[in-house]
Amino acid sequence: MLFPTTCPNCLCENRAEFTDSSIHELTCPNCKARYCVFVRKQKFEMLFDLGTRALLDGYAREAVASFAAALERFFEFYVRAFALERAAQRGEEFGEALGTLNATWRHVVSQSERQVGMFALAYLLREGKEPEFLSGKALGTDFRNKVIHRGYIPGHAEVEEYAARIFALIDRLLSELGDTAQHAELAQEQLFANHLAALPDSVTAIFEEHPGMFRARRFGQEHLAKSRPSPANVRGPNVGGSAAPLNDAQAFQQALRERSQGLRHFKFK
Ligand SMILES: [Zn+2]
Repeated sequence: MLFPTTCPNCLCENRAEFTDSSIHELTCPNCKARYCVFVRKQKFEMLFDLGTRALLDGYAREAVASFAAALERFFEFYVRAFALERAAQRGEEFGEALGTLNATWRHVVSQSERQVGMFALAYLLREGKEPEFLSGKALGTDFRNKVIHRGYIPGHAEVEEYAARIFALIDRLLSELGDTAQHAELAQEQLFANHLAALPDSVTAIFEEHPGMFRARRFGQEHLAKSRPSPANVRGPNVGGSAAPLNDAQAFQQALRERSQGLRHFKFK
């Protein structure tokens, strides 16, 4: 998927393809200036945005794989945030804690079932509750498998329902994580810093924050207003009685209206 970048030398717009590392080394075709764009975005956010873009463009079936991958990568993000938070509480040095975490993750990296197991324990230890949302029914696992492994061609509405479910779950868990998410984000910052240090002086570094489905939620006004909402705030019974709580589909539609503006810049071709 492509996104627009601006050459820092001649200011012309050049499209770049998103990379897995979120680091984009570019040479302007117009003036030949070299620049490097760092996109501050987590993998799960990128994947969810890819799915949303695909859904908006009418590729419902293709969107399912991106939404499913977004959820898996979010579980990893949660485990990383939790592990790094605990290490910080024990007074461990960040680099060392990250090294130990990466070495540990290598034991589960190729099996998503093991990763879900790690996530379940992390959630229990952090929240003191059962991750009741992990049942296959709640996660839409049957639907995902039917689409991905059995070639089922889903309708737009079915995929939208699946996306809404995943969106609501990630949104809720991000709210519960609160500022703890910053521990996992620091890992990306460190990766960027290492890359930046190795860049020649002639290359201009550009850091970008792309708006996306979760970005505004985490860094917008409502995020500043609370660090750790009560479960009642997140979903369910309405405390103040001012407005009816949104169901998953409504919450997803609202997020699409409010937060998907940035997705318009993204193009598949
Ligand atoms: Zn240029």
